[in-house]
Amino acid sequence: MPKSTEPAKINIETMIPGIASQAKVAIRLHPTPCDNVPEDVSKIGGRFVWPKAEAWPQCHDSRHEYATKPPILAPVVQLRAADFPEVEFRPGSDLFQLLWCPVTEDACDELMAPAPFAFWRSLDDIVERLDFEPPTDASDVIESYLLFQQCIPQPCAISPERVREYPVISMLPDELLDPLPEEMWDTYQQEEVGPCPATKIGGHPYWIQNDDTPTCDCGAKMDFLLQLPDWEYTNMDAYQRWIPLEDRWAVNAYHSDRTQEAMLDVLKPMRFDFNHFTKYVFVCRACESWPVKLIEQH
Ligand SMILES: [Zn+2]
Ligand SMILES: [Zn+2]
Repeated sequence: MPKSTEPAKINIETMIPGIASQAKVAIRLHPTPCDNVPEDVSKIGGRFVWPKAEAWPQCHDSRHEYATKPPILAPVVQLRAADFPEVEFRPGSDLFQLLWCPVTEDACDELMAPAPFAFWRSLDDIVERLDFEPPTDASDVIESYLLFQQCIPQPCAISPERVREYPVISMLPDELLDPLPEEMWDTYQQEEVGPCPATKIGGHPYWIQNDDTPTCDCGAKMDFLLQLPDWEYTNMDAYQRWIPLEDRWAVNAYHSDRTQEAMLDVLKPMRFDFNHFTKYVFVCRACESWPVKLIEQH
C-alpha cells in the first residue's frame, strides 16, 4: 500500500530566504512486514537473489573468538536501479545488496556497529540462482551466543515515497543560520522541516549528533546512501509529521493500548533493536569498488 507523508505545515522557503538551495529529495522506503516478497525485487531482509556460483557469505573476522564457525551475514537492503532512477549505481550494475555481520560483541569497531558488506551487481548476470534461506534469527547466525543488538531484519516490502527535506538546523550554512532569531530554531524543530528520521535513501542524514560524514580510505569524502533506524519515528506525542498518514490509526491506538502489535508493524517494521542508534550507510563513488562505511549515532 502506498504511504504518504504529511507536507510541512509551514513554508520554510518563505520564512528563511535562501534555504531552497539546501533542499534535497530523500526516498522514504516505508518498510512493511511481508513474508512473500519475491527475491529479485527491491526489499528489506528475507531472501535476496544470489548467484548459485557464490556461497552465501560468512564473516571471517578473526576476532569472532567465541564462535565455533564463522557467522552468516544477514541480508539487510536490496535495491534495483529501475526503482530509483535518481540514485547513482556503480557503472554496469543495476542491483545493490547490503549485507552485514550481525555479530557485534566480539568483533567490532569501537562503536559495536555491524560490519557492512556491499555488492553491486547486474541482475542479468545472475543466471542460476542460489537456493538458500538467509538467517532469520540469532540461532541461524551463530551457535550459543546471544546478539547484543538485534540486527537481523524481519522481511519487509517497501513502497518508496519522495520527500523534500532540509538539513538539521545546526548544519545550515552560517549565512542562513546567523540572521535567524532563536524562535525560528524552535519552529524549525517543532514543525519537523529537517531531515526525515525514518528508513530512507539519500536526502540529508538525520544526524542526532554532529555531522559525521566519513572519509574513505582513498581520502575522498563519502556520499550518503542509506539511513536505517530501529524505529521509523519515536517522538509520538509531538507533531508526528513523519508518521505516514495511513499509519496514524495504529499510533493512536497504541496510545490507548501500549502493547499494540499494529504499532510495532508501523513504527518498528524491521524489528531492529539498535538501542536507539540510527545507522547511516555511506558509499565512495571515487573508488573502483564503491566501498561502503557504516556510521551510527544516538
Ligand atoms: Zn563479523
Ligand atoms: Zn574511496
